[in-house]
Amino acid sequence: MVDILQEIAIAIFCKNSIRKEKTASNANSDNPRQEIEEAIAAGDLSKLLRMNGMLHGHFCPFSAMGVKAAVRAVRELGVRSTGMEEVVAIVETNNCFSDGVQFVTGCSFGNNALIYRDYGKTAFTLAKRIGEAVRISVRADRLMEERAPEAAQLFERVVVERSGTETDKERLSELWKALSFKILDIPDEEVFDIKRMTVEVSAYARIFANVKCSVCGENIMEPRARMKDGKPVCIPCSGQEYYQLSGDAISIIGRS
Ligand SMILES: [Zn+2]
Ligand SMILES: [Zn+2]
Repeated sequence: MVDILQEIAIAIFCKNSIRKEKTASNANSDNPRQEIEEAIAAGDLSKLLRMNGMLHGHFCPFSAMGVKAAVRAVRELGVRSTGMEEVVAIVETNNCFSDGVQFVTGCSFGNNALIYRDYGKTAFTLAKRIGEAVRISVRADRLMEERAPEAAQLFERVVVERSGTETDKERLSELWKALSFKILDIPDEEVFDIKRMTVEVSAYARIFANVKCSVCGENIMEPRARMKDGKPVCIPCSGQEYYQLSGDAISIIGRS
């Protein structure tokens, strides 16, 4: 009896050690996107949506569609991203959809693999450097109204009119979350239009030298420097106009 108990104890101990080792090797992997890539390969969209919540901040139908579309595109093209522009995403909206795309494809604002076209369409294209691409656009634009009418009403009050109570907000986030995970199970063809195509992919982002602003002393990418009294200055110190991307639009600020 003691022997059997001892054997069981050893077996449990070994199993736990293996599990710990596995977790440690994932954490020490040279590929920081390993967990994401494994979830894409396994088709574990729920896990990806939960992880995307860390970036996006909440669960909502459009971020769920972004995750779903991105998984489809990555699998269609058989690509992976190390954030070195080997694959490029062209997003056509700055709504929640694009965060799902950035998270799953690994093409982000900061790694220069994200191209933003200010079309206001819930759609994106994933492209290999050679131009082979897939464009996915959301066709099911009344998904929330059809599948979660209460959420659609609350959305109007809380998000559009910004007049909801705390209870309204909590209820909306509950309904949004439920709908978001439900969306993952709808067949892709019911939600999206999916088109294979060839696109022209822009050149790799150039790497620029830095120059120092002669007024505030901060470093600036050389092509963004302006000249004032024969010396380089940054845009804010020059008082000249600049482009700004905000939640509203891309606009030129400071044009008189
Ligand atoms: Zn959202
Ligand atoms: Zn300056």
